[in-house]
Amino acid sequence: MMRIVLLGAPGSGKGTQAQRLQAKFNVPQVSSGDLLRDAVARKTALGLKAKAAMEAGQLVSDDIVLGLIRERLSQPDAQQGFILDGFPRNSDQAATLSKLLVEIGQPLQTVLLMDVRTKTLIERLAGRRVCKHCGKVFSIATLPDDMTCAKNLGGHELFQRADDKEEVIAKRLDVYQSQTKPLIDHYTKLGLLKVIKGEGSLDAITTRMEIALALGKSSINVSKKTTKKKSKARTKSKNAGAKAAKKVAKKKSATKLKKAAVKKTSAQKKARAKPAVKSTKKQTKKVTKKSSKKLVKKSTRR
Ligand code: ADP
Repeated sequence: MMRIVLLGAPGSGKGTQAQRLQAKFNVPQVSSGDLLRDAVARKTALGLKAKAAMEAGQLVSDDIVLGLIRERLSQPDAQQGFILDGFPRNSDQAATLSKLLVEIGQPLQTVLLMDVRTKTLIERLAGRRVCKHCGKVFSIATLPDDMTCAKNLGGHELFQRADDKEEVIAKRLDVYQSQTKPLIDHYTKLGLLKVIKGEGSLDAITTRMEIALALGKSSINVSKKTTKKKSKARTKSKNAGAKAAKKVAKKKSATKLKKAAVKKTSAQKKARAKPAVKSTKKQTKKVTKKSSKKLVKKSTRR
């Protein structure tokens, strides 16, 4: 039984990882974004109301989203658990969710926060392309040469989500900062939050999530014990030799920095050595890189 919430900024990989967990553990992914996109595509009354807010990077009103989630969680497949992706997204939604879950006797087990740097978020969002036919997600960095999706007989065109356009990405990240980020505190206080580093290979991230989930409640105890031990040690080292500890830390971070520099140089060398693939692909990548850089600058200025 898995009843979890995936929390994280747009582009943190919630959807991708939710799909992987869904396939592995046979627990449905309940994505508010997908439910909304589906309502928009089917032109239902709710969908028509939601469309404008979505395209502007704003949150859709709580009553619309809550209606969709309530309905989805009442489906038979969700009785054995769920992976909530993109919901809750503000404090009111979190409060309503906990009431709803008490009502249906399915309290949350864990909230996994996918931690990803802003620079990476922007690169991922600006470079995301989706197959028109099957919804498969591609990244401009690893796009197939013909820029189409090969699944289901292939040749299907890829498109960019309206809310992945440069000007909307900035808005979505703002909304995350102001409305969704406070949920980190909320779930920490409830003892439900676990943080996962959301960068690295897809497999590595899935493994981190599995470890966090498999540890369940005991991991909270483990981390509490560890924290206690750490703070004892800290007091000791303060009294005994704070200077020595500082020295060691300095040395460690210098080695880290050195390693990172070496990694960077070899990655740069590799990139230089790679032959050009297709001019259209190269151009698209260039444009995306340029615009992501602009966005990174903008958002760090904020
Ligand atoms: P992302 O997490 O990458 O922003 P989603 O697919 O989760 O993408 O959501 C796309 C859009 O759908 C959001 O920008 C927002 O307009 C709307 N949306 C999704 N989930 C919610 C929610 N829980 N509450 C309000 N609006 C939502």
